[in-house]
Amino acid sequence: MFEALSGKLNGVFDRLRRRGALSEADVAEALREVRVALLEADVALPVVKDLTARVRERAVGQEVLKSVSPAQQVVKIVHDALVEALGGGAADSGARGIDLEAAAPVGILMVGLQGSGKTTTSGKIALRLKGREKKKVLLASLDVHRPAAQLQLETLAKQVGVASLPIVAGQGPLEIAARAMDLARRELFDVVVLDTAGRLAIDEALMAEVAAVKAATNPHETLLVVDAMTGQDAVNTARAFQEKVGVTGIVMTRIDGDARGGAALSMRAVTGAPIKLLGAGEKLDALEDFHPDRIAGRILGMGDIVSLVERAAETIDRDEAEKLAARMQKGQFTLEDYASQLKQIGRMGSLSGILGMLPGIGKMKQQIENANLDQTILKRHAAIISSMTPKERRHPDIIKASRKKRIAAGSGVQVQDVNRLLKQFDDMSAMMKRMNKLGPEGLKRGGLG
Ligand code: GDP
Repeated sequence: MFEALSGKLNGVFDRLRRRGALSEADVAEALREVRVALLEADVALPVVKDLTARVRERAVGQEVLKSVSPAQQVVKIVHDALVEALGGGAADSGARGIDLEAAAPVGILMVGLQGSGKTTTSGKIALRLKGREKKKVLLASLDVHRPAAQLQLETLAKQVGVASLPIVAGQGPLEIAARAMDLARRELFDVVVLDTAGRLAIDEALMAEVAAVKAATNPHETLLVVDAMTGQDAVNTARAFQEKVGVTGIVMTRIDGDARGGAALSMRAVTGAPIKLLGAGEKLDALEDFHPDRIAGRILGMGDIVSLVERAAETIDRDEAEKLAARMQKGQFTLEDYASQLKQIGRMGSLSGILGMLPGIGKMKQQIENANLDQTILKRHAAIISSMTPKERRHPDIIKASRKKRIAAGSGVQVQDVNRLLKQFDDMSAMMKRMNKLGPEGLKRGGLG
């Protein structure tokens, strides 16, 4: 759901990365663009202001790390600010799932507007608690407004393979809730999921009903289900439920759609409640834990780069990297350079991550990933290159059939693997030439860092 925002921020960082040392003006300009990108993604204005202020404060007066560029440090600072906005932080980092730390039967009250995905999410939660946590779960629908609601939940319970509260016609939500809790106590259920009725919009009657059920059942969790596609409205809905009912967590559904993502970023600041789970599809297993750091990574579209920046400080020697960048720029990148890169990559973990650090390469990253350069292939490539003579490494053109056979035998692979390596090296060289055309200045000044 974060594609658009992600694309915009990437553009900002791409431009930033083409510069060497960053001036305060560069950072200010980048922050202006970050601000626009966030607003366009529908992030609430106070949240945007707070986020950019935090980034500015930290970007100025940052100690400059030896092995990474100032631009990368800005990426990291923005990332950390996003994590905080999403509700992660030193104090409460990590995934926040459903809290089951209470005496059984643990009550989970599901609240939200009609169509938000409440019933589906109840089923998803039941499936997860049954499977992952080995809990005995009871599902109960308190929705007496929508004719088929109770039947819908009963069907869902059958699909999931958990019990559902027998339907008794004519009962109101409070009676049904009491019956559910009672049955759960008698039959030793671990968890009771109470699915309340929704309305098309916030109204007093709905709030009063939900609040009454909450007071009567004293659930351990009150989870508000909101539809990410409704953007800023989802945040307003959450604020209303928080004020009138009080929620312990938020489940954001339809993140598989093309929602702009701003709601996720605003939710914590506006409601104070953490997002606990994400609904990512109609299937019952499409439920994800909410990890602020992973979401921030997803938004920046640089999944690994932040940890890479952290690790880069230890593993990549800047001078070495600059020398390599210069050679690449002159078109002098050889199989020897490739082999030494493979060693570094082995230490760093991810090739696409390293490539992400090269200025201007963002768009080509996908191409490389498509070329399927995974770890096993990297190891095989290192072995093949080590079976070549120094001359062959510098002039791969001379590697014809008989040399290929020797190299393959020496490294324990097939001739076609040698061919594949040479082909990929060719592609890589061609790509570098194109990259140089894109931005020789950026490559020279930005180096690898
Ligand atoms: P309720 O009225 O809040 O109980 O909403 P439902 O659970 O009946 O869901 C309404 C519709 O949204 C159904 O068609 C669901 O399959 C669909 N839905 C629920 N969660 C998700 C989700 O995370 N992604 C997508 N794409 N659809 C969902």
